[in-house]
Amino acid sequence: MWNQADVERAAAAASTLDELGDASSQCRACPRLVSWREEVARVKRRSFADEPYWGRPVAGWGDEAASIAIVGLAPAAHGGNRTGRVFTGDRSGDWLFAALHRAGLAALPTSLNVGDGQRLIGVRMVAAVRCAPPANKPTTTERDTCRPWLVRELELLAPTLRVVVVLGGFGWQALLPVLAAAGYALPRPLPRFGHGVRVDLAGGEGRAALSVLGCYHPSQQNTFTGKLTEAMLDDIFALAKGLCG
Ligand code: SF4
Repeated sequence: MWNQADVERAAAAASTLDELGDASSQCRACPRLVSWREEVARVKRRSFADEPYWGRPVAGWGDEAASIAIVGLAPAAHGGNRTGRVFTGDRSGDWLFAALHRAGLAALPTSLNVGDGQRLIGVRMVAAVRCAPPANKPTTTERDTCRPWLVRELELLAPTLRVVVVLGGFGWQALLPVLAAAGYALPRPLPRFGHGVRVDLAGGEGRAALSVLGCYHPSQQNTFTGKLTEAMLDDIFALAKGLCG
């Protein structure tokens, strides 16, 4: 069984994003999540009964020289945990990819499966917690155990990264310690999550200045109720593109 030290060691040893994805896909450091992701993959949802499920950690995906990173919560049980690609195959992803396509940041308006021809343009997507959690709620221990994967992902992106769009308050809480670990000086008190909240961080050795943008998560709870509209999402991605120059 993996432990926290194994995660830290394996993440630090990855010298490319591909290596990082391969290493993280082997991870079994969170017993509850390993059990859940594999049970979901075994039982399946009836509508996907004929499909193979990925049932493993879901790696970051997209442009390896991205200027924009999108950080979400965790894969959905029948979305990323099924397709093996982050935000792919669930309703949240439908919203997100449609907005990215409208902004010129994704080649297609949909993201259905790993063979669908979708391509992100200047964007990398990653989940703060790489395994699907029961009820979409990882524990704080699971979040912290998974942190080294996200730290390394952002370190490897640092030469080109200018903006991080954070989807939802959990992602925000997960990201701030990651940025601190990567050497960014965070303002005090720590900024609270909100839609449209922007935090500008000074650059440093090997990394440029970075803007962090809060965005409501495109969950059905938010999109059905109008808490998050297409126009609000479009504004966030327009701002992110503008910040990249
Ligand atoms: S959530 Fe992260 S640390 Fe935990 S088993 Fe999955 S990949 Fe490993």
